[in-house]
Amino acid sequence: IVTQSRYVYDFAEGSRDMRELLGGKGANIAEMTRVLGPELVPAGFTISTQACVAFMRDDRTEPAGLAAQVADGIARLESRAGRLLGDSADPLLVSVRSGARDSMPGMLETILDLGLNDESVLGLAASTGNERLAWDSYRRFVQMFGNVVSGVPGARFEEILLAARRRAGVREDRELGIDALKDVTRRFRTLYEAHTGDPFPQDPQQQLRLAIAAVFDSWLGDRAVQYRRINHIPDDWGTAVNVQQMVFGNRGAGSATGVAFSRDEITGAPDPSGDFLLDAQGEDVVSGVRTPRPLHELADELPEAYARLVKILRTLEQHYGDMQDVEFTVEAGRLYMLQTRSAKRPAQAAVRFAVDAVDEGLLTPARALATIDAGALDALLHPTFDPDARFEVLARGVAASPGAAKGEVVFTAEEAVTAAAQGRDVILARPFTEADDVAGFHAARGILTTEGGKASHAALVARGMGRPAVVGAGELDIDLRARVIRIGDVVVAAGERIAIDGGAGIVTRDDVPLVEPGRNARFERVLTWADEFRRLGVRANADTPADALKALEHGAEGIGLCRTEHMFMAADRQPKMRAMIMARTEAERRAALAELLPLQQQDFEGLFAAMPGRPITIRLLDPPLHEFLPDRVELAQRVQRARDEQAPELPALEQELELVLRLGEVNPMLGTRGCRLGIVHPEIYEMQIEAIMRAACASAPPPHLEIMIPLVDYDAELVELLDLVVEVGSRHGLTAGKDYLVGTMIELPRACFVADRLAVHADFFSFGTNDLTQTALGFSRDDVEAGFVPSYLERRLLDRSPFETIDEAGVGALVELAVARGRAGRADIELGICGEHGGDPDSIAFFDRVGLDYVSCSPYRLPIARVAAAQAAL
Ligand code: ADP
Ligand code: MG
Ligand code: MG
Repeated sequence: IVTQSRYVYDFAEGSRDMRELLGGKGANIAEMTRVLGPELVPAGFTISTQACVAFMRDDRTEPAGLAAQVADGIARLESRAGRLLGDSADPLLVSVRSGARDSMPGMLETILDLGLNDESVLGLAASTGNERLAWDSYRRFVQMFGNVVSGVPGARFEEILLAARRRAGVREDRELGIDALKDVTRRFRTLYEAHTGDPFPQDPQQQLRLAIAAVFDSWLGDRAVQYRRINHIPDDWGTAVNVQQMVFGNRGAGSATGVAFSRDEITGAPDPSGDFLLDAQGEDVVSGVRTPRPLHELADELPEAYARLVKILRTLEQHYGDMQDVEFTVEAGRLYMLQTRSAKRPAQAAVRFAVDAVDEGLLTPARALATIDAGALDALLHPTFDPDARFEVLARGVAASPGAAKGEVVFTAEEAVTAAAQGRDVILARPFTEADDVAGFHAARGILTTEGGKASHAALVARGMGRPAVVGAGELDIDLRARVIRIGDVVVAAGERIAIDGGAGIVTRDDVPLVEPGRNARFERVLTWADEFRRLGVRANADTPADALKALEHGAEGIGLCRTEHMFMAADRQPKMRAMIMARTEAERRAALAELLPLQQQDFEGLFAAMPGRPITIRLLDPPLHEFLPDRVELAQRVQRARDEQAPELPALEQELELVLRLGEVNPMLGTRGCRLGIVHPEIYEMQIEAIMRAACASAPPPHLEIMIPLVDYDAELVELLDLVVEVGSRHGLTAGKDYLVGTMIELPRACFVADRLAVHADFFSFGTNDLTQTALGFSRDDVEAGFVPSYLERRLLDRSPFETIDEAGVGALVELAVARGRAGRADIELGICGEHGGDPDSIAFFDRVGLDYVSCSPYRLPIARVAAAQAAL
């Protein structure tokens, strides 16, 4: 015997743990049925997601056995309701509702009032004594069925309704009389027939079969596919279908339909909120045809139903231990609950709910923490546009780094620096940004680009520094020569003021008021809980004393990555750095380095003073030298111009160009950088180590210093540079292992494989997951935006960019291997991670699992990391 799969589950059988099978909506309807009792939840059954999976697999054909199981389900529903589906005297009507595992609002299809036909509409009128209800429902059914099942364009139905309203001289559909509704329904059916070539199906069983297939089909619709791509929902989950007895919010004045939140959905304040409409059905509340009324007014209209609803909201919240978002309908004064789910909420509401829930005794701190979406928390750390402000949008782009900013437009990093030094607020506008522009990021209030996405250089750096940024605002034309921004007829010249909201991706010329986030006592409490629960340490990636102070403010336990190259980029350093690179003899080079030494020493002293007693991990110079020199094409043009003008600086420029060409490598990211640079030019590292040791000796209390060697492949590399560190240290009477630690960055696959050998010489490892991802996958991280990755995401070859969330199966496996081998080489080795992934909640969960000691991320992501680390530990 072949055992047939079971596809159909009555609401009374399911529970909230069955989301995978029943979808979120079905599982929660079942749960509500148990918790609130069957009088409050219209009865029905769920066709499982497995049926949808089978339907997709078998080329959109209904799986064997489904029809019979649905027929049984309908029979059970009929006997409970005491009515037959589509009966001509007293019809049972049902809704056919989609519902995937995770909610996909508005993406999938739902059909209401199924079972109506030319006869049962009369039966419904007679049995309810409400002819208007019957015809209003029938016209809705023909409209929804025609649109969803047979693809008749929704606009065609709307045209007919519009004409009917005109003829009747009314503004809303609900003001249409019975005759008008009958006429509309007839026209709808004629439209249906003209569009499909078939008469509108009259057989309720056929209607049901077609509706179920249409809901399955909607899973494969473009809209749904796109939504899943954006929200990282797998295509193979499928949707469940809920068949549920209809209740009628369109039954006249004592009836209503609405949505409600157990607490304010924007602020999280503990008062129910929501919208409702009297005498309405289905999507009327959200569709915008009528303007819904605020929930509290329901208390005046239908006081008993309102009181009951408020009580139920509390019951559901207590039962689920989370803020709820429900759909309800009142039929002739009687309340029905049609759906409940955890409410989506902005960061401020999430924090408010968590804290209030603990104070109310609803949740323990651990459970309260689990209700927060850690990734959304950075919205709380930046000012935003005043939500009540009115303004004209100039352009939209990618919301790349949250927060709002206002200032004069500048077009270069130098201008930004100069303006900031004069105390002016500026927005740095560039087509795209590069390493050279970084000083401008510090100086600017906000960043605007016309190219790139969330992972572009501008976006990464802006987020790292906590600067608001709108990137990829492609409608704008930033003309660097004319120093203007153009859009249509509008021209914004350098010095004119604009405002951007990097959390919303908006650019405007209006002077929008900003609201400051301020220190938020509730948020601080959440973070305090997080610190109690988390096992992972949290450090910050910070290069300057200002960054370090920011990091401390956000709860850093130390610095996990200080990138010393930023110390060479500062305006007063660049010429010295160039002189060092351009030096022809070692003596010349040492002379140039000697000038940099005191500056670097000052930098380190500042850093040590900002973070007394906490670990500070300093990475020796990492990027290839050519990054400190001008762009080769630009330089070649300057040489050409100098030649044309016979300018006196020609020889110097020519020499520079020659050097740039000589230093240039075909693959600089795989070239002379990191420890390779330190080995080829030991004098650079020696200067840096000298500056670090001098600063350490000059600081009280002595710093908790960790010196990190980047891009190591071979233990011999590590040994050679370790010797250099030890030698310089000993000149200052400092001892490795006691006064400072020396470790290595693990960012090449080979380093993972030989981690046991490296560990013998290293006090710590820090996983540089950006480079490790780049080298493990062979994806250039500088080309993620422009290259093939977007089309991989588009085609679902990738769910997320591996540079945002760690590729667990690949890069993650390397990390795990290196952890195991590293500990085998040295049991007490300290293990951290300092790539972009250190601020990503999903990656943090992984790092917790594999047993790292800490994560390090940009100061502004620390609160996220603290909460995510706590969630990982719970
Ligand atoms: P969505 O997922 O788009 O919200 P739903 O399946 O929840 O779609 O249905 C949309 C609306 O249709 C619900 O909010 C509710 O107002 C109405 N509805 C669904 N089922 C019923 C029912 N059995 N009785 C009355 N109204 C219903
Ligand atoms: Mg719904
Ligand atoms: Mg690196």
